[in-house]
Amino acid sequence: MLHCYRCSTALEGDKISDEHLFLQALGGRLHSEDLLCEDCNSNWGSHPDGDLSKALQPLAVALNVRRASSRGNHPKIAGIAPDGTKIKMDSSGKPELQNFTFNQKDLAGGGKQISLIARSEKEARRSLEDLKQKYSGIDVEKTLAEAKRVSEKFTAPIAFPAKLTFPEIFRSLFKTALDFYVLKGGDRAIAKKLSPVVDGVGNLHDSIFWSLQLEPFPGYKGTVTHTIALVGSSTEHLLYAQVTIFGCIRILALLDDNYSGPDLAVGHIENPLGVDPTPNDIRPVTFTRAQIDTIKTSWPTEASIQANFAELSKIAQKRMNENASMERGREALFAKLASISEGRPPTAEDINEAINAFREAYLGENEFEEPPPTKVS
Ligand SMILES: [Zn+2]
Repeated sequence: MLHCYRCSTALEGDKISDEHLFLQALGGRLHSEDLLCEDCNSNWGSHPDGDLSKALQPLAVALNVRRASSRGNHPKIAGIAPDGTKIKMDSSGKPELQNFTFNQKDLAGGGKQISLIARSEKEARRSLEDLKQKYSGIDVEKTLAEAKRVSEKFTAPIAFPAKLTFPEIFRSLFKTALDFYVLKGGDRAIAKKLSPVVDGVGNLHDSIFWSLQLEPFPGYKGTVTHTIALVGSSTEHLLYAQVTIFGCIRILALLDDNYSGPDLAVGHIENPLGVDPTPNDIRPVTFTRAQIDTIKTSWPTEASIQANFAELSKIAQKRMNENASMERGREALFAKLASISEGRPPTAEDINEAINAFREAYLGENEFEEPPPTKVS
């Protein structure tokens, strides 16, 4: 019988709980029911996990992180347009259109006047069909045919606030280190002794050392990884883990400074962008005690970590905005092709025209000569 490493409750019946080592909100996939009980999982789920999730949510949306579970769509995030307008974005990072609105009033001569604003043809049709259940006189097709259509393209580059909350996010990453240690057969008594660090008890800087990689998104282009490495050395008498989120926010978790257990060197890597969603085992880099001592004293200040995180967020925002303009270019290209080559194969001239439409739509944003963004109150 396994027991929760935080509170020692037996993991059986309704105490069983699925713990994600990297947060689902950040696209984490590795999970286990052998680590924490339901109470501890949900307790840590709000703090510190909720804090980490909140701080990194905009980044996850901008990078188009794919959640493993289908019910786990990203919550909406707040964005800021260049003119300072606040915008709501949906879970894919697209700005949300004006909300669905519905109004009705009684007419003097009997009957009702109903007006509605829908965000799509599909939504309008569904609403009208619902209304028809109540008011059989509604002619859905005729209403749709006569409806006023407004096309509002959102083309402004969007920014979002980027700030890490210290030290909560590092408490959450420390929990990932403990989870991994226990998952790999580590001593639950050691994990239990260390678990107050996750609660923020004691001097966190005895156990957590942090850095932000100066070059965001290392490795091959387009890949952003979460990694964890666990090393136990019987000769250096050290047990430590390195946890890295999005390839750049990294902590060193010192689990035992006087380690006498067996040698350990295990690692894990996953790609939250879903390019290769399969988590893999990797062999971690190991450090000597002298190197660990250097890391403990030379890692950057909170201010420089914030500055680097802001830089990283800018890269993600740029990527998000480029994806959006590429999408607009693609739409323009296909719309043009469909309109000019109807019923005949496209000529070279048609294709040139379509490419020009693409270029115009794609470059449009980069020139920043855009109509004001859709306002959402
Ligand atoms: Zn527990």
